[in-house]
Amino acid sequence: MSNATTCLLQHAALIVSMDDQDTRWSDGGIYVVDNVIARIGPTDTLPQEADQVIDARNMLILPGLVNTHHHFYQTLTRNLPAAQNANLFQWLRIHYPIWAHLTPEAISVSTQVALAELMLSGCTTSSDHCYIWPNGARLDDQIQAAQEMGFRFHAARGSMSVGEAQGGLPPDSVVEDEEAILRDSQRVIETYHDASRYAMLRVVLAPCSPFSVSAELMRQSAKLARAYGVSLHTHLAETRDEADYCAATFGRTPVELAEDLGWVGPDVWHAHMVHPGAQEITRLGHTKTGIAHCPSSNMRLASGIAPLGQLRQAGARVGLGVDGSASNDGSHMLAEARQALLLHRVMGDPAALSAQEALWLATRGGASVLGRDDIGYLAPGMAADFIGYRLDTLELAGGAVHDPLASLVFCQPPRVDLSVINGRIRVQDQRMLDCDLPTLIGRHNAIARALARGELQ
Ligand SMILES: [Zn+2]
Repeated sequence: MSNATTCLLQHAALIVSMDDQDTRWSDGGIYVVDNVIARIGPTDTLPQEADQVIDARNMLILPGLVNTHHHFYQTLTRNLPAAQNANLFQWLRIHYPIWAHLTPEAISVSTQVALAELMLSGCTTSSDHCYIWPNGARLDDQIQAAQEMGFRFHAARGSMSVGEAQGGLPPDSVVEDEEAILRDSQRVIETYHDASRYAMLRVVLAPCSPFSVSAELMRQSAKLARAYGVSLHTHLAETRDEADYCAATFGRTPVELAEDLGWVGPDVWHAHMVHPGAQEITRLGHTKTGIAHCPSSNMRLASGIAPLGQLRQAGARVGLGVDGSASNDGSHMLAEARQALLLHRVMGDPAALSAQEALWLATRGGASVLGRDDIGYLAPGMAADFIGYRLDTLELAGGAVHDPLASLVFCQPPRVDLSVINGRIRVQDQRMLDCDLPTLIGRHNAIARALARGELQ
């Protein structure tokens, strides 16, 4: 007798696999053994029994969405009045002194709030870029929180090392010693990084930005990451202020600086990339560098419009990111796909990005950016990460009947009705199964209030 656990999804109104052939099935089903898709196709061609059976009538089933850039801890400082109308550098200067009071508990609770929000929006895999570690907070706090939620997580060990005294943007109180950063980076890779197929946890090295770390830390982080085969992530070419800082400090553009430091290639992805030059776009494509496109944050902070079409055409790997919760200020992955579609049409081209392309970026694109070939589409042998949206809802009324897939992007983006991550049902009927949400939100808001007052213990 096998000890495998089986799960069977039946009678989906439509399954959109997002595979290369754009395979779709009406009255579709998925048969899962443990954490892997064993079979997928019309319901009547699949086994009719399993340990767990999901009736997906009236649902559209998609691969789980993949978020490529976030700062979970910022859920605690969403919508801060002082930062509502600030550009990036002003916004950071307002937030840094508040974030200096973060604690391990604050990191853990905000991670769970951000993950709950992501999960209910259809996201099943996310990276997070935490780069501030005051008062004993560690990457371990985030990892444990994500593991409790059953979420597929790429934990980026972020860092800042150049404070105001050395010409950087952050106050000296929130930067770390570079040797300590590298030591801790090695520790978390050796302790947690899982390179295997279907891994639920990978570690990423992520110095924060050109204006908060040294060129040497970027270089050493790349060397360390490549010795262990882990990915590299940072913010790059986000604003004009950053370009001015790089010109004054390094005599280079942000992309030139990244190239000098070995920060391009198939194991690197950059958040934003709003302001690359034309030749730089070509080189980013040739090197298969990854880009996390963050439309809401770029609009919110008035950073500009990233050249999404040119980057994709050049061959760069492009996915979507909701970005940190203090510059979005939400973690709704499906809404982010909608923002991408709207943003790239606003300058005059109504065909700049279709609904299907936006969803492709949110699934296949994101998987590629994170360096994964086991998530992002649905097929036998792929991880059992899939989501379902009911099509008979108020938001989709009169929309899903014409084109169910596109209705998710053109109509008001709904919460997910079903989320299966690594073969386990985590959301059903729009409810988190393994998380007491009201209690979590209560704890989170108490911490958020205390943090803003500088009273967090
Ligand atoms: Zn960011």
